[in-house]
Amino acid sequence: MSTSTQFQLLPEVESFLSRGVFPGFVGGKDFHASSGETIPTLDPGSGEKLADIHELSAGEVDAAVDVAAAAFPAWAQLSLAKRSKILLRLADAVEKHKKIIAQIEALDAGKIQSQAQGDVQNFVDTLRYFVGLAQNVETRTKLEVPGHDAWKFRQPWGVCGFIFPWNFPFLLIGWGISPALAAGNTVVIKPAEDTPLSALYLAHLAKEVGVPDGVINVVTGRGATTGAALSSNAKIKRMSFTGSPEVGRLVAESCGKNLVPVKLELGGKGAAVIFEDVDVEGTAEKLVGAITFHTGQVCCDATRWIIHESIYDKFVSHCVERLKKVRIGHPLDPNSQMGPVVNPKQCKRVLGYLSKGIAEGAECLLAGGEAHVDGYTGNYVKPALLSGSLDNVAARDEIFGPVAYLAKFSTEGEAIRMANDTDYGLANSVWTADLTRASRVAEAMSAGNSWINAHNVFPHGVPYGGVNKSGMGGGVLSIETLMDYYRHTSVVRPLS
Ligand code: NAD
Repeated sequence: MSTSTQFQLLPEVESFLSRGVFPGFVGGKDFHASSGETIPTLDPGSGEKLADIHELSAGEVDAAVDVAAAAFPAWAQLSLAKRSKILLRLADAVEKHKKIIAQIEALDAGKIQSQAQGDVQNFVDTLRYFVGLAQNVETRTKLEVPGHDAWKFRQPWGVCGFIFPWNFPFLLIGWGISPALAAGNTVVIKPAEDTPLSALYLAHLAKEVGVPDGVINVVTGRGATTGAALSSNAKIKRMSFTGSPEVGRLVAESCGKNLVPVKLELGGKGAAVIFEDVDVEGTAEKLVGAITFHTGQVCCDATRWIIHESIYDKFVSHCVERLKKVRIGHPLDPNSQMGPVVNPKQCKRVLGYLSKGIAEGAECLLAGGEAHVDGYTGNYVKPALLSGSLDNVAARDEIFGPVAYLAKFSTEGEAIRMANDTDYGLANSVWTADLTRASRVAEAMSAGNSWINAHNVFPHGVPYGGVNKSGMGGGVLSIETLMDYYRHTSVVRPLS
């Protein structure tokens, strides 16, 4: 590990990174790329290399799936009590190692430490939530059908594949694999090539706490090789992909060829509709918090702010003043409020959208641009605000940076039309003191999720998932998600 951060690393993090080169982790042990090919993973805050990661070939991914398939029968047949005990032990271990995992995540994903700790705790809470839910699932149900003896039963599918993006590497693993494991499936995880370290740490920790070998496997490598191999493996029984719509389509095509059911959690271009009766300062503060949270690299972020014309100027002026004060810094600096974006490509993407939006006629309310952080040459960008007609590339496309696009409305109907004028459909919010209006607008906005007087809210038990270009297949975080990881069989015998 060669990161030159001025901040103290935990000894356990030093020790983990001192390994320098990481193979995948399959069947409870290191799983090497026979080609010897590796990919560097970098600290987005300094641009320096943290480690090299093995790139597994298609054949090696297939072998990993075979290992997970071999581990499946014993894991599925374990009593619910024993399986739950093991998974709760894993949740406890992750919680105990929270600071370590959070620091690894902060370094690898460029996430400020307090947010990374929140992500790790969220993983723990999600695993406990699904283990708890699984206790109450009726796996065998007698069906009252005249003239027949009939019942249905639920059982796990087998090997479930998971491909994850780089923005919430650890939290999303928790959202993805917890219901699958609780239901008795085994999993093969493909983390993003930019952020593989927390997944590998988890796999090692799982081994330490007694999760049986082959139940949690991690295959590392690039999307076009390792990811494509996983999504086209015909022995996968269920696939889950979180990432961009472009890659989601490729994954769905591969799964379609093998008739493997697939869940897609994709991008978004969420709206926040802000009525004239809000506390302007308080609402501005919350939306500034939303757009700067993880440097705007959040799929469900509010990136189109649709503001009533009577408060527009006051709202803009609060947001501009507040955004100018955001402290940008290295993720390990406790004073940082906003870290870097994940890589130089993402940095160029954010800056490129600002130029393209302005070239198409957007007004620039806050210029944004590259940010300088003393001592580091990481991928830092400043927050930016654009405004104008929503028929603009910066209002249509997902930018994935700390950029919001502002527009005015005068009537409720107009605001709803503006919010729904997008190909995406992940998450929107409505802000008003009138809760009747809030419910009406929340239900009229076309997306998987609507929030009232808040943005980015994920209580366990409330299903979260997208429609249209934002996803398909049922979403995450609720009882329905757990049910997705059981397949159903019915048995019937005529009585005469
Ligand atoms: P991405 O689609 O580029 O990559 C996601 C994953 O897919 C990575 O692991 C990558 O290696 C892999 N991949 C790339 N090409 C592949 C291929 N041909 N076959 C199989 N796998 C392949 O996305 P990203 O840039 O890592 O993440 C950002 C995107 O993720 C944004 O669009 C964001 O909105 C979305 N996202 C959605 C949610 C959600 O819950 N809806 C959550 C987080 C991120």
